[in-house]
Amino acid sequence: MNHNLFFKLFEKPMVQLTVKLNRKILTPARRRLSYRSEEEMSVVCPFCGIASGKAHASIVYEDAAVVVFMDLNPANIGHTLVVPREHWENIYEVPEDALADIFSVVKRVSAAVKKTVGAEGISVLQLNGRAAGQTVMHFHVHVIPRFRGDPLSKAVGAMVEHQGLEKPERSDLDETARKIWENLQKVRLPDK
Ligand code: 5GP
Ligand code: ZN
Repeated sequence: MNHNLFFKLFEKPMVQLTVKLNRKILTPARRRLSYRSEEEMSVVCPFCGIASGKAHASIVYEDAAVVVFMDLNPANIGHTLVVPREHWENIYEVPEDALADIFSVVKRVSAAVKKTVGAEGISVLQLNGRAAGQTVMHFHVHVIPRFRGDPLSKAVGAMVEHQGLEKPERSDLDETARKIWENLQKVRLPDK
């Protein structure tokens, strides 16, 4: 099918519905191929644009699998993003071996950022889904320098603090742990 025609069709609600249904059925890797080409993704996704060299970024490091660049709107000076070249939307889609490679870069970048800006600490942050605050729907890891009492303290601290929820009984925690363990047995690993 002619490409222009395909993307014209894609704008039609019926076709969008079909694509939506297909997206549920297809594995992530096949879904990406059937969805949009690399060329198209570099237009619709800012991080694909940077990874393909079509969009500008202040690049720290790159290799065949990963590109590392400065965040355009840093939370603290030195805020760096570690991004796989491939367009995986979130952590559920990233194959485990790729995740291991990405986090080995995160580890090295964390040490380098800490040294560069003289940070007292580093927050490594990774968001999945809009409810979690993800705004760019291409998997990425934030490496954020931290300083005691910096303006981020409240926000980042609040994320892992007690939020006024009623304190669960030990039996509730045990029950939730058991249910998560059950679901953990059913998690399907993404295709390599
Ligand atoms: P998220 O909230 O999705 O985890 O974070 C996305 C991050 O990407 C934000 O911190 C935002 O400032 C950064 N960002 C968004 N668009 C661009 C861009 O085009 N270039 C760069 N360098 N950073 C971006
Ligand atoms: Zn992308």
